[in-house]
Amino acid sequence: MRETTAPFIGIGRHRMATDGVGVTTLVAFHGCPLRCRYCLNPQCLNGDGVWRTMTPGELYGEVEMDDLYFVATGGGICFGGGEPLLQTEFIRSFSDIMNPAWKLTLETSLNVPVASVQAVAPLASEWIVDIKDMDASVYRLIRVAAICLYVVIWNGWQVRIYRKRYWFACL
Ligand code: SF4
Repeated sequence: MRETTAPFIGIGRHRMATDGVGVTTLVAFHGCPLRCRYCLNPQCLNGDGVWRTMTPGELYGEVEMDDLYFVATGGGICFGGGEPLLQTEFIRSFSDIMNPAWKLTLETSLNVPVASVQAVAPLASEWIVDIKDMDASVYRLIRVAAICLYVVIWNGWQVRIYRKRYWFACL
């Protein structure tokens, strides 16, 4: 059976106080269903913005050098992008092979079908939701959205069902 792969725009090591608890490595996927004005990572929207394509095992080989930092500080991997919830199969496979002492954080717009949220909700200990704005008219103005703000809020409740830490951010 062919192993799953995913495209990435980059990896950022030794991050603190920005992407979850402890020392984290930010792993940023290529691809996003949105087209926000003022996108922070426009390379994730461009076809030629892919840095590398990796399997979960290859990614593990890239990030395991910081195992000691993760375990000592309660940190781990933060999947962002782009939109990590477009890559739920990859995240599940990575979670199967990673050190179980690491924490998984997801940095997402939640602007995805609810099934994508449910697929990884039990795995991630923290969720950072890039909401931009809670006013629906402002939200529509900033984002060319595939799904409306109310679905995003409903998806937030799905995360809450699993009793995970989450907060909304305007990134
Ligand atoms: S959700 Fe994030 S990555 Fe996607 S277009 Fe908006 S700012 Fe860019």
